[in-house]
Amino acid sequence: MLNIIICGAPGCGKGTQSDLIVEKYGLKHLSTGDLLRSEIAEKSALGIEAESFISKGNLVPDKMIFDILSKAIAEQTKNSNGIILDGFPRNVAQAEALEELMTKLKKEITVLLDMNVDNQELITRLLKRGETSGRCDDNMETIKKRLEVYQTKTAPVSDYYKNKNKYAAINGMGTIDEIFSRISGVIDSKR
Ligand code: AMP
Repeated sequence: MLNIIICGAPGCGKGTQSDLIVEKYGLKHLSTGDLLRSEIAEKSALGIEAESFISKGNLVPDKMIFDILSKAIAEQTKNSNGIILDGFPRNVAQAEALEELMTKLKKEITVLLDMNVDNQELITRLLKRGETSGRCDDNMETIKKRLEVYQTKTAPVSDYYKNKNKYAAINGMGTIDEIFSRISGVIDSKR
């Protein structure tokens, strides 16, 4: 079973690479950003609250994330090849809560893939995506805030998995195929 975390700054290509991983390895994709955006589209109470954080580039509260995610993790790790977590954990408290949940489910995180992309390239990609994505957070002001939140809150999650020897840095520059072949190399070495 492969339970993978894909991590990296906004615009690093997590979503694109997750789709390719799902296709090749038959994993279930769990994206907290996608789950939140579907709550926003439904105009649910959770979605309305989440949007006020997302549109400013801040993280939504941990409890909100865990409420929508823990049931999905329990379901998707049952009778499956495993999961790919995209956009979670976003801080060390979430990583600790995930560890606790996985222990309870008698499952294990296999590896965290940390996608490294230059900041200027991230900004270019996100502004380009903003032309068509319709996302409330793909604009210059919010992008800057998201990159700052990534550095202060999310980057330390890498150290958490380095300490567990479950960390792999991925060069996220280049073509989609080049990046996927680097990722496949790491995943294949863990099977
Ligand atoms: P993403 O699609 O992963 O870039 O997420 C978009 C936005 O959703 C983020 O900027 C956060 O506001 C929120 N979000 C997504 N995942 C999380 C998480 N694990 N914890 C807190 N906020 C999150």
